[in-house]
Amino acid sequence: MDYRRGVVTGESVWRAIVLYGANSATYKFAFGAALLEVAATGRNHVTLEELAPPYAALLCEALQRQPRQGTAARSRFLDACRAFNTGELDRDTLHRRTVQLGFSNVIDAFPKLGGDQAPLSFYEDERKNSAAPGLVLRDELLELAASVQAQDLGAETAARWRLVETAWATGISDGVLGPSLDYDRDQQALVLQSKQRRQNVTGVVPALSGYQDGRCAYCNELMTQTVGTGPIVEHVLPYKLLTRVWDGPNVDAIWNLVLACWFCNSAKRDRAPHETWMPWLEVRNNDLIESRHPLREVLMAQTGATAAERHEFLKRAYRRATELLPAVWTPPIAGYRA
Ligand SMILES: [Zn+2]
Repeated sequence: MDYRRGVVTGESVWRAIVLYGANSATYKFAFGAALLEVAATGRNHVTLEELAPPYAALLCEALQRQPRQGTAARSRFLDACRAFNTGELDRDTLHRRTVQLGFSNVIDAFPKLGGDQAPLSFYEDERKNSAAPGLVLRDELLELAASVQAQDLGAETAARWRLVETAWATGISDGVLGPSLDYDRDQQALVLQSKQRRQNVTGVVPALSGYQDGRCAYCNELMTQTVGTGPIVEHVLPYKLLTRVWDGPNVDAIWNLVLACWFCNSAKRDRAPHETWMPWLEVRNNDLIESRHPLREVLMAQTGATAAERHEFLKRAYRRATELLPAVWTPPIAGYRA
């Protein structure tokens, strides 16, 4: 992804914060979504009283979906959200509690990446400014909220949120449960398969698009939902292998899925990409692993615990695939763009 290659733009820093930053609670997802919502109106100043309703609403909704929204044993703020959900707290009281308790860490923590301040900031903390307390939204955030990618960034945040809460809920992050996020082709979703049921966790498109910076895996063109050229979920080693006598790894899994534009998808058809393109997939899979739970555990289980093992895994799978289906397709950009 761009940020990890040293590209600093509003989009790349935002994605790094949402997709890679530390996760001890899901506040930052709610906070990011609420910020984008306010910034989309073009305002450059917001008070905590104004941010509280959308922020709290997202967390209340999340708690109904999944009771565990943090790693801490207790949170007074989340308790207030729970009390609202059960009808013990009215809306006004929830919003007051949110202003008092809900922002104490997230405003400082959101712009941090690996413990350091991100190279670009989206707001200035003016909570102590008695004349106009609140947050000053910087141009970087306003431009992001107005960009063609804004909708995708919102969807990526929601997808990352579902993945993180699922990791906590299932014990994937603690290694308690074997990682079992399967790809469901009909729903284009990652699903959690347990003994009791099959549960849709999140769509594959929003789960993967941030790691490709919203661009086609093969031609690097920007794909947005609004333009209508994609993204399409694409099997790198063709799905057709599964209809042959295939003794390689399951190609219908996230390690082998990328997002491509309509043009590349229809040009590639049932062929593997030229082998010079394959390092792109290796880098992408390592990026997914760096995003930590639960994709880290899932990818490692599918392709190997170390970078060297994963390199060998891909090489072997590619060799077998092209023995069976020898025709390959050369993407418009061969090899990873450094
Ligand atoms: Zn393309």
